[in-house]
Amino acid sequence: MKIIALPAFADNYIWLLHDGASALVVDPGDAQPVMQALQHEGLRLAAILVTHHHPDHTGGVQALREATGAPVYGPARERIPAPFSPLNGGDTLTALGIAWTVIDVPGHTAGHIAFYAAEVAGAPLLFCGDTLFSGGCGRLFEGTPAQMLASLDTLAALPGATRVCCTHEYTLSNLKFARAVEPLNHALIQYESECRALRERQMPTLPSLLSVERQINPFLRSRERSVKQAVQGHTPTADDDVAVFAALRQWKNGFQ
Ligand code: ZN
Ligand code: FE
Repeated sequence: MKIIALPAFADNYIWLLHDGASALVVDPGDAQPVMQALQHEGLRLAAILVTHHHPDHTGGVQALREATGAPVYGPARERIPAPFSPLNGGDTLTALGIAWTVIDVPGHTAGHIAFYAAEVAGAPLLFCGDTLFSGGCGRLFEGTPAQMLASLDTLAALPGATRVCCTHEYTLSNLKFARAVEPLNHALIQYESECRALRERQMPTLPSLLSVERQINPFLRSRERSVKQAVQGHTPTADDDVAVFAALRQWKNGFQ
């Protein structure tokens, strides 16, 4: 099984998973790079998975369905190009012979879902859309800080070996903020130099590893003393877990 990040737009990745004959794609904001990859590798499209309704994740769905007849799976509580199989947290589906579990992760959008498989080519795999990024998390367009914190807690509890397929290459700018929050985090400094080296060679920094994210991502670490103290230095009124998380997200929004 191969996992490929197809670049799209300025900084999106459309994830393509294939076994040499059949493929699935996740969040095809644009049909063209997907059609090219299918042709180039001689693949049949078996499924289209969608995490949330934003156009940079759904813009190619209609054209791909028309060109390939592939079934579309998406969040039950969001408007995505119909017809599609509506999914809620806890639902399961089989695609490419792999069993996927749907996880509700509201916050970036109200009905955002993620797709998790316990074993793909030897390790767990997560497609998390715009909920979790390497070193960061999605902006809160529709959900509350409490919802996003709960969603990230759910993802953070998955096995450390989980490969995290995020849909944007935001890693270096996220890590710049992460360093402002935790300047003494050595795992973070090390990880940033690895990611820099990848970007210098125009390589994706993704998928990331969940065990690494737990060490370096301030949005998975908002209860750690170091993060909490930094946030409270910035926003003294942030008292409980949700308030600290909300203030951390606010701080990032204004960070250059
Ligand atoms: Zn989005
Ligand atoms: Fe996006």
